[in-house]
Amino acid sequence: MSHLLEAYAAIAGSDVVDHLRQLAESLHGAKVVHVNSTRVGGGVAEILEKLVPLTNELGLDTSWEVISGGEAFYQCTKAMHNGLQGNRVHIPARLLAAYEEANEANAEIMREKLTEADFVFIHDPQPAALLEHMPKRGGKWVWRCHIDASHPYRPVWNYLRRKVANYDASIFSLPAFAQLLPHSQYIIPPSIDPLSDKNIDLPPEEMESVFATFGLDPHRPLLVQVSRFDRFKDPVGVIQAYRLARKYIPDLQLVLAGGEASDDPEGEATLAEVREEAGNDLDIHILLLPPDAHRVINALQRAADIVLQKSTREGFGLTVTEAMWKSKPVIGGDTGGIRLQVINYHTGFLVHTPEGAALRIRYLLHQKERMQEMGMKGKEYVRENFLLTRHLREYLTLMLGMRHGAKYRIVLS
Ligand code: UDP
Repeated sequence: MSHLLEAYAAIAGSDVVDHLRQLAESLHGAKVVHVNSTRVGGGVAEILEKLVPLTNELGLDTSWEVISGGEAFYQCTKAMHNGLQGNRVHIPARLLAAYEEANEANAEIMREKLTEADFVFIHDPQPAALLEHMPKRGGKWVWRCHIDASHPYRPVWNYLRRKVANYDASIFSLPAFAQLLPHSQYIIPPSIDPLSDKNIDLPPEEMESVFATFGLDPHRPLLVQVSRFDRFKDPVGVIQAYRLARKYIPDLQLVLAGGEASDDPEGEATLAEVREEAGNDLDIHILLLPPDAHRVINALQRAADIVLQKSTREGFGLTVTEAMWKSKPVIGGDTGGIRLQVINYHTGFLVHTPEGAALRIRYLLHQKERMQEMGMKGKEYVRENFLLTRHLREYLTLMLGMRHGAKYRIVLS
């Protein structure tokens, strides 16, 4: 077994890795292409960064392409994202035209690769229109939606549905997100990589240096939310919760750590709102980190007493998984993928308002044993359900199923 697979076996169990190898054997040499819209920033890039090399390690021929476009393209796809998550957005024809044009131009660049591929995974709305420019495609095309599409704004979904309906299958993270589509839909939640810099154990010196760098006091309680500055992540609500809790816990500190995803044009406006809400409170640390600051984010999550993810919509919330893997209780918005991970009263608390979050913060900071117990449960819950190995197993199974059609039984060699 390769070094890498051995390392996963040590964490997830050797039976899990054997299973992966068995599934992958029947797909040996299959050409797989993933397409998304950014190489850094956000959950999709985070997943592909690890999923692609591990699939290759198992003998498939996997690559990762990134669609790009001008400002109007990103404005359009951000509006689509907001619309799929339920905002009543009007997308002007000018932006839709930029979306169509960018997909057509990118299709030209990726044509050879995409027509030759056995399996193409198209992530989210940005590259969804590539398919219509591939009349000679040979392989199976799957649309992978990472967004909380439980209550999409209909005009946006109707537009996108016309693109997606022609795919061979689609994948959603939760059953609640699935849509009426004329093909098979699969439910596959995302995952984290326990071996990545974001998630490995860190030496005490590195933890100390992060405390020192950001002026955090290791002896005072710390709340952390790691997220792009996006209104759906509710960073302003997090500050409000911190303020309410601080009335009772005066030495409380808060870190809001974020960066920019290159495909998110609204980040700056949200950041300005966050700065205004924070005012000149020296115990609120707003950190703008570069996209490769994985170890710093790891350290901040480890430094936290409680991790918050107070989203009002959330496709999955890898930050929740990352925190749980570090044995942290999570206070999360009662929405989307957070509900799949935060088991209320067991691995954390689900909340609807800043007041609710503040109440849970106070409770946990006065119940250290409860915090530890929740943290331990969270880690085991992630080990069972949300590691990369489980995610890859489901992708391999899906590819096998698509290759063999609706046979009752597929015999692995
Ligand atoms: N992340 C990061 N730097 C940041 C903000 C987020 O590396 O400044 C990472 C975070 O650790 C997580 C991912 O980006 O791995 C965000 O994924 P999530 O599913 O939580 O949210 P998304 O951004 O996809 O909506």
